[in-house]
Amino acid sequence: MGLESKLTSDGYLTTKLDAVIAWARKGSLWPMPMGISCCAIEMMSAVDPKYDMSRFGSEVMRFTPRQCDLIIVAGTVTYKMAHVVRRIYDQMPDPKWVIAMGACTSSGGMYRSYPVVQGIDQFLPVDVYTAGCPPRPENLINALMELQKKIDGTRARDFQDKKLVDLSISNN
Ligand code: SF4
Repeated sequence: MGLESKLTSDGYLTTKLDAVIAWARKGSLWPMPMGISCCAIEMMSAVDPKYDMSRFGSEVMRFTPRQCDLIIVAGTVTYKMAHVVRRIYDQMPDPKWVIAMGACTSSGGMYRSYPVVQGIDQFLPVDVYTAGCPPRPENLINALMELQKKIDGTRARDFQDKKLVDLSISNN
């Protein structure tokens, strides 16, 4: 049953503006594909005809941060690269969200060594973590659905004058 099932006999429905805005935002996420290493191959698969992430309104990957509201970080993030990822995130307009795809992105994975950041939550506010090395496309789609649930509970004014968390990347 679609929207028409909610209509009254007079042909109107009542809702809250916050609910409409959240509904529109969650159904039109435009990802910035921050593919850094091997996890990115599975990210590409998620938008192919087999897995078809467009079913969730999120197939329009953009390579300019100004047109994105979701950054999917997929791969091993080194300290040198972390500054680039943070710069791209900073250039995205609010509201914006972050998915950490895979073990390396979430925790450094098997690379417990000095050049690798041990989790992007050291410099980005991560909304959803995706397990796996690499995560399968279904897992990324599941992360997207989890993010949609999170967005569903937001109010438009939650993002007004939002201060960026002061996250830093300490070199070791
Ligand atoms: S989690 Fe595995 S597949 Fe993903 S970037 Fe790290 S080593 Fe590669």
